[in-house]
Order: sequence, then C-alpha cells, then structure tokens
Amino acid sequence: MTEGLPMAVPARGLPARVRIHEVGARDGLQNEKGVVPTEVKAEFIHRLAGAGLTTIEATSFVHPSWVPQLADAEQLFPLLGGLAETEGVALPVLVPNERGLDRAVALGARRIAVFGSATESFARANLNRTVDESLAMFAPVVAKARADGIHVRGYLSMCFGDPWEGPVPVGQAVRVAKALLDLGCDELSLGDTIGVATPGHVRALLAGLNERGVPTDVLGVHFHDTYGQALSNTLAALQHGVTTVDASAGGLGGCPYAKSATGNLATEDLVWMLQGLGIETGVDLGRLTATSVWLAERLGRPSPSRTVRALSANPAQSPKE
Ligand code: MG
Repeated sequence: MTEGLPMAVPARGLPARVRIHEVGARDGLQNEKGVVPTEVKAEFIHRLAGAGLTTIEATSFVHPSWVPQLADAEQLFPLLGGLAETEGVALPVLVPNERGLDRAVALGARRIAVFGSATESFARANLNRTVDESLAMFAPVVAKARADGIHVRGYLSMCFGDPWEGPVPVGQAVRVAKALLDLGCDELSLGDTIGVATPGHVRALLAGLNERGVPTDVLGVHFHDTYGQALSNTLAALQHGVTTVDASAGGLGGCPYAKSATGNLATEDLVWMLQGLGIETGVDLGRLTATSVWLAERLGRPSPSRTVRALSANPAQSPKE
C-alpha cells in the first residue's frame, strides 16, 4: 500500500541503515491508565515482529506495585516464546535492581535495560535516590548481567531538560552518561524525557560525549515529540552518525488527551522519514500502521501518530496486514 510513498530521495552524510528500538510495549503501555490484557500485549509484540521490528522492548521487571500495567511480566514473557529463538528478535526488558534481574533471567531474558537519570530531581522522583546512589544500585545489576553474557542497555533520562530543574547542562548529562557506560553498559539511550531538545542541543551533547571518549556507535537516541521536535532531533543525531533510534508504535505513551502526555516519537513517523531518505529499517510501514490501528481500537482512542492517521484516513493507502 505504501509502495512509492514517500518517494525515496537519499541525502548525503546519513547512515545506510537504522536499527529501531521499539518501546511501545513497555514505555508506551506503562503510561496507559486502563490495564491492557496480557494476551493483547503478547499479540501486539508478535505483530510488531511481523512488521519487521527486530528490537522490541517487551516489559519491565519492576516491583508489580510500582507499575501495575506491567505487573504481568511473568505471564507475558513466556507468551513471546519463539520470537527470540526462531525469529531472532531481541526482547530487552527493563530491570530496576538485582531482584528484577533475577526474575528476568529466570524467564530466559538475554537483554536488559537499566533506567538512570541525568538530574537529581528525576532520580529522586523516579528512584528515590540521588544520581550517584542510583548508579551504585545499578552497578551490581550490570556486573551480574555482564558476567552472564547478557546485553545491557542504559537509559539516561532528562538529558536535555528536567521539569523541576529546567535546562540540563551538557557537562552534567555527559558525566552521568559516562558513569553508566563505565559500569559496563553495552549501549546508552539518551532520553529527552520532556521533549525540550532542539537539534543544536542534540549535536552539542553528542559532541560532548565524543570529547569524553564515548564513541557514537554505543549511543542511541530517545526523543519525545512534545514540542514537535522529535524528527528534527533524530535527523541531527543521524547526521552525527547515530544509527539506533528509539520509537513507540503509534506514538503510544504520548496520549494527546492526557495531562501526563509524554509524546514518544511514533515509529510510523520515524519510518516514513527514514524511507524517504532511503535508509533501511526492515520495517513494513503498512503492517506496522495496521498494528497501531488494531491496538488503538483495543485502547479505545485513535493513535496520535500523524503517519498512522494519514495512512488510515486515505482509503487508497489504507493499511493492510
Ligand atoms: Mg519515552
């Protein structure tokens, strides 16, 4: 259906291929108020894999009372059997501490993520710890995972701005980023949690990390579209050489009607731009859009993704699976 749309016109200085780290099932759903049935989550993840996504963050092994939406990790993970083994799909899961790591590993998880903060205020609000205390909490988790050959992603949230502290200086984000990598994280996702970054700030942070010896190939970017800057920021990161981009199918986690709107970059919007630039992703935009339409029906409201809306509004381009 989307053949020829958008027209691919490659631009100089961009990567040939981008790996999309799909966060809809974890970062997206954890912001949903109504509890989504485990079977729906499992079907969602299977459909995402069917659309060609190869890295799908599946759930979180936080204490069930912290994030009730993801309290079914033990029930969900076995329903994803086969995706990792036969399809080669990576299914990272968030773990907050050693207990979470043990639970995830017991179910066969081979990729984990820890969730740090560049600011003291968010570390306090989210983890009830200082930044350095949270790093100390992650240290044994990362060490234990690495000893078991498990791939570790570090998330660094509030890299550009913080709702309590305002703009975050580049040097501050670089310090915590470097500390997370020094713990042994294999990759780092730079999060613009409140969506305030602009392209110059993105370039400055990436350059600041490079200056401290962090190579670009361990860095991913996680932009939110709160102020409409997510794709501009993504393009700036791609021009810098970044090839891992986080996105959420259908823009999940960014409900425009909720006060807590966080505005994850929609995977469809990202794929539309990358296809237009002739950059390989392996994603079938039609199948992905159909998946987001399917999930939106189950959630009872339309997807906030511009691309999902445009493709599903035009009968000639209506998404098919
Ligand atoms: Mg997010």
